[in-house]
Amino acid sequence: MNERLQAVVVLGGGSAGWLVSALLAAEHPELRITVIESTDVPVIGVGEGTWPSMRDTLRRIGLSETAFVRRCQVAFKQGSRFDGWLRGDAGSAGDRYYHPFMLPVGHGDVDLAAAWQATQAGRPYADVVSPSVQICEAGRAPKQVQTPDFGAVANYAYHFDAGLFGLMLREHATGVLGVQHLVDHVEAVMPHENGDIAALRTREHGDVAGDLFIDCSGLAARLIGEHYGMPLKSEREVLFNDAALPVQVPYAQPDAPVAPCTVATAWAKGWIWDIGLPARRGVGCVFSRAHASEDEARAALQAYLDATGAPAERPAPRLIRYDPGYRQQFWVRNCVAVGLASGFIEPLEASALALVELSAQRLCAELPMSRASMDAVARRFNDDFSYRWARVIDFLKLHYLLSQRDDSAYWRDHRDPATWPERLRELLPMWRLRPPARHDFGRIDEVFPDASYQYVLYGMGFRPDTAPLSPAKLQAAQACFDEAARQVRRLVGGLPGHRSLLAHLQQTAS
Ligand SMILES: Cc1cc2nc3c(=O)[nH]c(=O)nc-3n(C[C@H](O)[C@H](O)[C@H](O)COP(=O)(O)OP(=O)(O)OC[C@H]3O[C@@H](n4cnc5c(N)ncnc54)[C@H](O)[C@@H]3O)c2cc1C
Repeated sequence: MNERLQAVVVLGGGSAGWLVSALLAAEHPELRITVIESTDVPVIGVGEGTWPSMRDTLRRIGLSETAFVRRCQVAFKQGSRFDGWLRGDAGSAGDRYYHPFMLPVGHGDVDLAAAWQATQAGRPYADVVSPSVQICEAGRAPKQVQTPDFGAVANYAYHFDAGLFGLMLREHATGVLGVQHLVDHVEAVMPHENGDIAALRTREHGDVAGDLFIDCSGLAARLIGEHYGMPLKSEREVLFNDAALPVQVPYAQPDAPVAPCTVATAWAKGWIWDIGLPARRGVGCVFSRAHASEDEARAALQAYLDATGAPAERPAPRLIRYDPGYRQQFWVRNCVAVGLASGFIEPLEASALALVELSAQRLCAELPMSRASMDAVARRFNDDFSYRWARVIDFLKLHYLLSQRDDSAYWRDHRDPATWPERLRELLPMWRLRPPARHDFGRIDEVFPDASYQYVLYGMGFRPDTAPLSPAKLQAAQACFDEAARQVRRLVGGLPGHRSLLAHLQQTAS
């Protein structure tokens, strides 16, 4: 009971399984880690946008960023751009805003929102407080050719090919970090008499025993869902989307610009993501089956692809259905779910892989662990990750509830306060009078900080009724706005074009 946990069995060889096993192996070489994946169950094969945290994760795993960029069709992502969310006028600059990864200049020290409202309200908030918008609009990369691996001039994350990413992680985890890899199908769970999992019974390799089982089996949730029967906490009444149609399309011209941010374009009954990689785009239509038929969503996607110049010859998008929600408990006895097995809600802010990274970090931080300490570890893990999922849901809902779109019941239903999370119902009236602040978010490692809420609120046309600022405060804020403008001039002039940096990194490979 008090012996240290030694054998970890990871069920699933998708991005979640390989990220968790690689990080565990890199930071706890004393563990015996086995990843089991089935050729009968393909990986989901989407999930190509990340958060800046992925830079730290890859560094901790021991991967070189240059090698990663060369292998995985990587592009740099500096945030997200939202088109058509406010009024449904996706082509107009007035219905476009950014949620950049860079914090506003002076964030936390100066009352930027009130000063912006008083002196610059005619310009978009993100544009006034940060250089990011102009860097993205100019199609610039977030770093120089000579910037070291994982270093940034402007904060960035990645877009990549999910299939190539999984392969690279697998090679690194098995070849460098000593993770065992079993290609086999798990047919049954062998329980211990105390209710733990003793082993997974595979079709060809017999029973694989372990001390801790990490369920990374995707939407099937073979261990946490099927074996332990842990239900999902449904979020369907808050975030209605429950289906996606992803497709990969080539550029019309091979040297077309590569977007330095994810573009999320709203349509009448959902939204469409557009992720630019060096050689192709990953595009997908997210929609609510209660509000739109599959045919309507396919038509919206095709119209978007036509409008954005995708070649007429296109593969047919495949339909992915999911139940929006997360497990009531992620960790039960000696089994913890990570990745899609733990839950899934729409990929609007690419939070799924970030939650995988956070789960992996947490597991690393809790080790060494014994079976005797595991129940307490599990309780804390369940509390913390329930909190995180709830905050992700708050933040995603914020993108919808301020929309003025009236072109379908989908948007009207999103505006109905009955569909808002309790916390947002409480906070929004406060934010009418003062900006979101650090104390609104209780933890130091919040998934979305107050700065993110400000970008979305003000991007969506929310105008706080703030108290007048003293001349000294206005002056301090103006100094930050001036600094952001100076950074625009310096960085837009000094940073290379996004495609040109990517081409340089590829060329030095050969
Ligand atoms: C439409 C869509 C868009 C998304 N976009 C983003 C995004 O932009 N950013 C982001 O962060 N995330 C995104 N995600 C989420 C992201 O794709 C996943 O979090 C990520 O790919 C991890 O998936 P996974 O490894 O949990 O599951 P999967 O990739 O489904 O892997 C499951 C694994 O389990 C194995 N398995 C299952 N059953 C068995 C069995 N019985 N025996 C043996 N092996 C088994 C399979 O063989 C497979 O290896 C998106 C998801 C969807 C659906």
